[in-house]
Amino acid sequence: MKAFQLIAHGQPGNFQLNEVPRPVPQPDEALVAVKACGLNHIDLWLEEAGLPIPAQLPRTPGGEIAGIVAETGTAVRDWQPGDRVAIQSNLFCGECEFCRRGEESICLKGQLLGVDCDGGFAEFTVIKAATLVRLPAGVDFQASAALTLAGSTALHMLTDRACVRPGDWVLAMGGASGVGSAAIQIAKHLGARVVSTGRTEAKRELARQLGAEAVVNTDAPDWPAEVRRLTGKRGVDLVIEHIGGTVLEQSFNCLARGGAVVTCGATTGKDVRLNLWPLFVKQQRLIGSYGRNRADMAETLRWAERGWLKPVIDSEFKLGDADKAFARLRTQGQLGKILVTA
Ligand SMILES: [Zn+2]
Repeated sequence: MKAFQLIAHGQPGNFQLNEVPRPVPQPDEALVAVKACGLNHIDLWLEEAGLPIPAQLPRTPGGEIAGIVAETGTAVRDWQPGDRVAIQSNLFCGECEFCRRGEESICLKGQLLGVDCDGGFAEFTVIKAATLVRLPAGVDFQASAALTLAGSTALHMLTDRACVRPGDWVLAMGGASGVGSAAIQIAKHLGARVVSTGRTEAKRELARQLGAEAVVNTDAPDWPAEVRRLTGKRGVDLVIEHIGGTVLEQSFNCLARGGAVVTCGATTGKDVRLNLWPLFVKQQRLIGSYGRNRADMAETLRWAERGWLKPVIDSEFKLGDADKAFARLRTQGQLGKILVTA
């Protein structure tokens, strides 16, 4: 089978479309024919060797996979060839104390699909059957590959790690990104009022189309003041944050009393300065959020089936053009998700 492999780290890294042996499923595994796989910022971190844990090369990236079960291991009972599936990319053991209470996202033996093992920029991928989630009939492969990682990350942030309430103000950072575009839609559907951010007019327009009442440019000198002005000087109850660096530091200046910044990433910097005085005086919180639980993924797909959460797709590339998909991701000019399709 063909696999798009990272051979050497770099900016850009060295990728090759190689012919590799088709994997054979172990008893508890399934072989999935990949139909669509979304790109995410983690693919760039893998490419640049920017992850805390080194990945073994060659590695086939790609964690946001939708496809069809092609073969099952001898012990697999719940799945059959032909089943349409998405894959939970936070791989989990299913046995530790956190998995037992349904929090697979913080599994003690957690691994990342497409980082710790080969992912979806290939014709097939082999995976533990327990990580499969059934695709509802009304959700196509592209929608799944555009929503299941970023969309479920946003759902996990807004409904598990924090609980958005009707009437809350939510600041969804990066409204044209995967997490941001989903966060706007989810928060809006749950009755919140949403402000978003975008660094180009095209990105700000997309965020407005998705339901943001106002969209600010984080390149402006005192953009948090604009957020406070928009909320009648009150500030927002929740910040859905994935940018990190100075943007995360500044986002605390947007926060209402009792509010929370929920962070699931740090694309521009992992080290931040935090002034504890306003944090405790205003009883604010900084909440970490990592990926999603299997339940979040199933729920994300139900939202997609009902039309409450719509995929925002920037562009699609065939597996043979996966290098072009990465080049597009590196520009950071994309509006929504970039997909590689079969
Ligand atoms: Zn576990």
